[in-house]
Amino acid sequence: MSLSQDSAAQDSSAQDPSVAAPSGPFDALMTITDRPPVVFVEGRGSWLRDQNGKDYLDFVQGWAVNCLGHSPEPVVRALTAQAAKLINCSPAFYNEPMVRLAGLIARHSGLERTFFANSGAEANEGAIKLARKWGALHRGGAFEIITMDHAFHGRTLATMSASGKPQWEKLFEPKVAGFPKVDLNDLDAVAAAITDKTVAVMLEPIQGEAGVLPATVEFLRGLRELTRQKNLLLILDEVQTGIGRTGKFFAFEHAGITPDILTLGKGLGGGVPLAALVAREEVCCFAAGDQGGTYNGNPLMTAVGCAVMEEIAKPGFLAEVAETGLYLAAALEAVGRRHGCGGVRGQGLLLALDLKRDIGARVVARAFARGLLINAPRPNTLRMMPALNVSRGEIDHMCRVLDAALADCASASAA
Ligand SMILES: *Cc1c(COP(=O)(O)O)cnc(C)c1O
Repeated sequence: MSLSQDSAAQDSSAQDPSVAAPSGPFDALMTITDRPPVVFVEGRGSWLRDQNGKDYLDFVQGWAVNCLGHSPEPVVRALTAQAAKLINCSPAFYNEPMVRLAGLIARHSGLERTFFANSGAEANEGAIKLARKWGALHRGGAFEIITMDHAFHGRTLATMSASGKPQWEKLFEPKVAGFPKVDLNDLDAVAAAITDKTVAVMLEPIQGEAGVLPATVEFLRGLRELTRQKNLLLILDEVQTGIGRTGKFFAFEHAGITPDILTLGKGLGGGVPLAALVAREEVCCFAAGDQGGTYNGNPLMTAVGCAVMEEIAKPGFLAEVAETGLYLAAALEAVGRRHGCGGVRGQGLLLALDLKRDIGARVVARAFARGLLINAPRPNTLRMMPALNVSRGEIDHMCRVLDAALADCASASAA
């Protein structure tokens, strides 16, 4: 399959404006990232297969989305059974899986109410709206939400503004106002940033896109105490860390705190578009018409969410994630030591290896060529977010391929 442009075809379509003829096989798609010229056609567990029959071990899993791996039985069963029963009946009505999933989330999180969304960004957008409404009602119109440098909250205008990604600083101006930034793990900086306009503090328990940078337990506990003292809301974005990723149902459990508002996405749907805005009863102040969305809470996706939550809640599942995480961390450390890398960061099955040099993109490309999908969120960092049920054999296999990919990069730079 060629990526090169067919200039003759381009010329003829230029003459006939009614024909938007793409010339290469992928040219009808908007370019949003550099994709390798491969088409994936099948997935099973931790493995993906492309159109040429080549198999790849997948330690990205749709960006920590396929928490049970590719096309897992429980998800396929829930999806097909629900599809045959009821796909959509509008968010203006209750449906059975929607009610059941909200109950499961409440039981496991300790937060009483859920609003379902279709993406993490949309759940975070809802969290921002809920906090602003609460500020209007209870804090004299306070609306500012303190967020963290290097944070990632999504790609809508407001969530990009809430994010602290340096590359976005000058993009799609003007930003949505009201998101002062502080350094992660600097409680004094948060305290100093609070004004009478402040309504909330929002952060990820582990900054995933920034390169797997954990908020410390002391910082999270300090924030919980500070926000309580100042009557502010604590919003945790657990779109990446939630639903078992760190070895607990929610990452906040490691710190022994509960937020006022929690957002979920990625793993919640096990691969399908499903997200949630979850909040304490006292914070839920939306009036009819304030919030909604055509597909929100649709039975097809929420049925899958129920199946995923039921799997994660099975006895021993989370303990096994924590154990597997320790095994992966030790294995990564060992590979890293052979290649002059630094340490491993993260928790459970959200882990990063510090490469100590900016070879991330090359390692990812070499690993891809050798049939392994990994991700470099920073030039000097590799991130691993395999299926939560990844086997030790698959981890060993990943380490052998990574070892070879790192060796490729070393010999390429020596040459
Ligand atoms: C992926 C992610 C989002 C955005 O979720 P989308 O479903 O891509 O909109 C938000 N916050 C965090 C922490 C994420 O990892």
